[in-house]
Amino acid sequence: MRIVDLHADVICKLLEHPGAGWDDSNAGTVFDATPERLRQGGIGLQVFPIFLPETQREEPESVFWAAELFWHEILTKKGFKLIRSSGDLATAHREGKIGAMLSLESAGGLQGQMWVLRLLYRLGLRLLGPTWNHANWACDGAMEPRGGGFTKAGKRLVTECETLGILVDVSHLSDRGFWELAERAGRPFFASHSNARSVVNHPRNLTDDQIRAVIAAGGIIGVTFVPWFAASVEPASIEDVLRHVEHICALGGARHIAFGSDFDGISRHVEHLNHPGCYPNLIEALLKRYPESIVQDIAGDNAIRFFTKHLPN
Ligand SMILES: [Zn+2]
Repeated sequence: MRIVDLHADVICKLLEHPGAGWDDSNAGTVFDATPERLRQGGIGLQVFPIFLPETQREEPESVFWAAELFWHEILTKKGFKLIRSSGDLATAHREGKIGAMLSLESAGGLQGQMWVLRLLYRLGLRLLGPTWNHANWACDGAMEPRGGGFTKAGKRLVTECETLGILVDVSHLSDRGFWELAERAGRPFFASHSNARSVVNHPRNLTDDQIRAVIAAGGIIGVTFVPWFAASVEPASIEDVLRHVEHICALGGARHIAFGSDFDGISRHVEHLNHPGCYPNLIEALLKRYPESIVQDIAGDNAIRFFTKHLPN
């Protein structure tokens, strides 16, 4: 089964641990998602977001350093292929390689400069979340108390993304930001790592109306393994993750569900989902509930279909 994961913070860990090699023999003590575990888990496509840890200044230099780490530490590893186009997806699949997509989680470091975005596009950036949990120059995030939406500059950012062919990720947006984007987006958008708010009431999770809006726009939702988004009481279990899958299915989203683990971005894990090598546990649980074709859709085909359709050719 070809699995797609829309969010693992390997780049952030690389920034935090400058000496750590991603495929060192002890890499598993630093990283959740190591090359070996991605292979073990059957990952066909992994999204690698640039997220700057607090130790990094939010400026273009930091963003480019992170982008270079993606090239230097990830793309150089055997069996990985950069995905910039729908053609790349097909090639990676044919060659049995793990596709690696570059995303930006918060445009804060761009400091409002579109040339930075255009240069990142040339470096392979194809996905972008305008902000993280808080406000930046572009938009307010889901945890920002004032609950604002996009700034004028933030709206220009979205337009520039659409022009370039960068897909916008709504996962961390404030509710107001979400709806501003949903109402104006010329292209489908997606949520890389969010669950259903009516299952677990957390501002990082999507309301039923938001889930319906992503579905109506032809987008995808990466159900996430962040324990406190998956369950109201920890420890969270695979059954808890499945409740979000079931809820999105009930809203008509069976062809719009994917996974966005947030591995390497979390300090605690859903039980039996500690790293990508554990994906078979989740697939096994899904197969007990759903026919194989639906499980394959959720595990990867929905996301592959979305990217094949919306990435540049
Ligand atoms: Zn995140």
